[in-house]
Amino acid sequence: MRILTGSFLFEGNTFSNALVSQNEFNVNAPVYDNDIFEKYTATETELAGFIEVLKKYGAEIIPSVSNMVFVAGRLEEKVYQHQKNELIKRIKSHKNIDGILLAFHGNMISESNDNCEGDLLEEIRAIVGKEVYIVCTLDKHAIVTEKMVRFSDDLVGYDTAPHIDMCMTGRRAAEVIVKLVKNKIKTHISMQKFPALFHGDKMITGEEPLAGLCREVEFLRDKRGVISSSMFFGCPTLDVAEAGPSIIVTSSVSDKEIAEKESLELAVKYWNKREHFLIKHIPVYEAIDRAMKIEGGPVIFTDPADNINAGAYGDTNCILKGLIDKGITDASIAVIIDPESVKKAIAAGVGSSVSLELGGKLDNINSSPLNVNAYVKKISDGKYIYKGHLFKGVEAVMGRTVLLAVNGIEVIITESRPANVCDPQLFRSIGIEPADKKIIVLKDGLHFRANYGQFAKEIFYIDCPGSSDVNFEHIKYYKVKRPIFPLDKDVVFP
Ligand SMILES: [Zn+2]
Repeated sequence: MRILTGSFLFEGNTFSNALVSQNEFNVNAPVYDNDIFEKYTATETELAGFIEVLKKYGAEIIPSVSNMVFVAGRLEEKVYQHQKNELIKRIKSHKNIDGILLAFHGNMISESNDNCEGDLLEEIRAIVGKEVYIVCTLDKHAIVTEKMVRFSDDLVGYDTAPHIDMCMTGRRAAEVIVKLVKNKIKTHISMQKFPALFHGDKMITGEEPLAGLCREVEFLRDKRGVISSSMFFGCPTLDVAEAGPSIIVTSSVSDKEIAEKESLELAVKYWNKREHFLIKHIPVYEAIDRAMKIEGGPVIFTDPADNINAGAYGDTNCILKGLIDKGITDASIAVIIDPESVKKAIAAGVGSSVSLELGGKLDNINSSPLNVNAYVKKISDGKYIYKGHLFKGVEAVMGRTVLLAVNGIEVIITESRPANVCDPQLFRSIGIEPADKKIIVLKDGLHFRANYGQFAKEIFYIDCPGSSDVNFEHIKYYKVKRPIFPLDKDVVFP
């Protein structure tokens, strides 16, 4: 059995104008061919799961391209085409492949394409034909499209949010493709989609009522005739025609009635819980007052509107300004992306003070630079190894990084887009122990919970402006099909 594997993980945000250039994309260093084994074996990634299970069955693994997860606005068209060609040319060069196993996010968009995974799968299917099995993993926030369903044999989604089961999802998908190849099973993917936009940050799979729904999705896999089952949240920061949550149940073609019936039943239950998946945001001053009344720390302030993991710019200074105004000093911020300030601070050197126009340059619609006098405390290369539940063992690369003290507040500024702000190792890599702080500010909305949940005293979702704002009163959608919950009244499903 010969299985070609790879990954192309990109999550877009149509409310951000940030285009990802090849240089920026390369910060996360795409990995090719046999180097994939060296970089990803035994990491907390889908590829590690693929490799482990395929080896177990004695399959011949053909590594192709691995593009590590990247979240931003859109991929520049030429970046998408270049990375796509790297994958396509490898698929074309290997003959007699039985299957293709790919890790996708599910929300990849380029300058001219709102559904890159659908486009890629269409092209791959045209090359390999119907006899080669194509199975993909998807992020739980994926907006699953008709094209993805039509041009693949199965789509296997994460079970958890925060996502701590990437490797496990890789294993599940590998088990599926082995089963399909060995038994020559032709599949029927039943997708049920309903008209809703949910706050991804409220979708925590360990909390009810979502936990109960997730258990039902997992139980389905033991049911006769079911090959796989997955639940997807969709993502409100993509204004695209096929926006919305979905349920997928896959069976063999001969059992397709089972897949249709089970997926619809589950989708109705999911839809009926929709009111639970909306979030309440808190103004920054109110959050500070409430945090200071809490004994001990850390209290986590998330900045969901400038959430780097949702493709925002990561450079607004709304929360920093609030902390300065309120005279707070026991606080650390991860991060503000500001290459110009990084350069100035490094030129000034450790131990000096420097005047900076901090942040507000990339997202100049929702923010503006803040004039500060900053003390340069530390400089680092911005590299560290993830030790938490997400991407464990993978190296994070943030570009050159500086720890500043601004009015007593510790602010970590970075040169390029950090892969993730959800791992406390980010703070430790520059000498801060986050558990000892009163307030920790994270430009994230959900995934930090996997690593901070155990020691956070309280978590506040701060209401600041930004390009990943999910306060539906502020957002204007143009492509999302209407009517849709919660924007419209009297939305019905099915
Ligand atoms: Zn996600």
